[in-house]
Amino acid sequence: MLKHEDHIFTNLNGYNSFKLNEAKSRGVWNDTKKIIQRGSSWLINEIRLSDLRGRGGAGFPTGLKWSFIPQKSKLPKYLVVNADESEPGTCKDRDIIRHEPHKLIEGCLLSGFAIGAHTCYIYTRGEFYNETNILQTAIDEAYKDGLIGKNSCNSGWHFDIYLHRGAGAYIAGEETAMLESLEGKKAQPRLKPPFPAIVGLYGCPTIINNVETIAVVPDILKRGSAWFSSLGKQNNTGSKIFCISGHVNKPCNIEEELGIPLKELIEKYSGGVIGGWNNLLAVIPGGASVPLIPKKICDDVHMDFDSLEKVNSGLGTAGVIVMNKSTDLLKAISRLSRFYKKESCGQCTPCREGAGWMWRVMERFCKGQGSIDEIDTLYEVSKEVEGHTICALGDAAAAPIQGLIKNFRHLIIQKFQKSNNLKKEVA
Ligand code: SF4
Repeated sequence: MLKHEDHIFTNLNGYNSFKLNEAKSRGVWNDTKKIIQRGSSWLINEIRLSDLRGRGGAGFPTGLKWSFIPQKSKLPKYLVVNADESEPGTCKDRDIIRHEPHKLIEGCLLSGFAIGAHTCYIYTRGEFYNETNILQTAIDEAYKDGLIGKNSCNSGWHFDIYLHRGAGAYIAGEETAMLESLEGKKAQPRLKPPFPAIVGLYGCPTIINNVETIAVVPDILKRGSAWFSSLGKQNNTGSKIFCISGHVNKPCNIEEELGIPLKELIEKYSGGVIGGWNNLLAVIPGGASVPLIPKKICDDVHMDFDSLEKVNSGLGTAGVIVMNKSTDLLKAISRLSRFYKKESCGQCTPCREGAGWMWRVMERFCKGQGSIDEIDTLYEVSKEVEGHTICALGDAAAAPIQGLIKNFRHLIIQKFQKSNNLKKEVA
């Protein structure tokens, strides 16, 4: 369990003001200049030693990502912060922005300095109207106080932050689609390589990180990489904000150590599953883009990247969607399929055609229309979509269906049988 003094987000619930004075009283903007004076190589190395893995879903090591930036390049370098939080079941970045915006801004300055960027764009989801206003207020406060701008924190480093509101497309949260959108184009993912660290925004070296990743950087640098890596588990270090939603008594966002047992997380912080633990059917542990896991796995699984991968799921964004036995699982998964079908940008055939096809089959299955052969065909098609597309949306569209078929094939068959019996009765 995360000790009180190890919490990074001490105002996550918004009990205190987000404003600069109160943020400073919580330790934000303390010693920022001293950290900058240690130099960019020290900063990158500390983040590398902390073993921080990106908090946006992919879990790529942050220090390693930063080290890809070509330090000697004469081109300008950019930091882009991904605040386009659109993953179903995920609501952590908006709370950081609402209640801890100065942690994020301080993180932008330190991360920007580390990679040699004088300019940072924070790309927020279009619907985050209130959050964007709060963040802009905090940015204005930071400029006025000399914390960012021409001589950030009196360090001599020139650093500007621009806030950009997207138009509300899920795919704009994919890092290269985000760059396209920032450049004024349609948010469509780019083929990789080249990776953004080499050819990114306006063709220049760019690092793109999630809000939570950037917001934890100042604490790692102030308290030390050894402190951060002492939390959690090897290769899954630090604390993480878990978003618990669905059939629980008290949905919430909570910061806990990576590796906490899923059962403990749900029972301790969200008041338990509605109807009790034995009424649990399944959990989607990492936002809609990862396969669900049935109760028997939920009993023992731990919430970290590696443990969830071992059970054929993923930590993703740590958006924990709890479904109890009152859930019509086929309908729930079909709803997610519809989401991915709608959000596909349409560039690649397996995703454009496959996502829609899978949704239509799921809709039929929900009505009990289908055959056992078709379950296998659906699984095979999902495998053809997975890994054969430009970006991970194709994989995300396939994952919920694969999780359903692997773990709850019997529910689909039951649906078919029920519908056949009904037809017989009517006849
Ligand atoms: Fe677009 Fe889907 Fe291809 Fe991603 S996988 S580029 S969303 S069509």
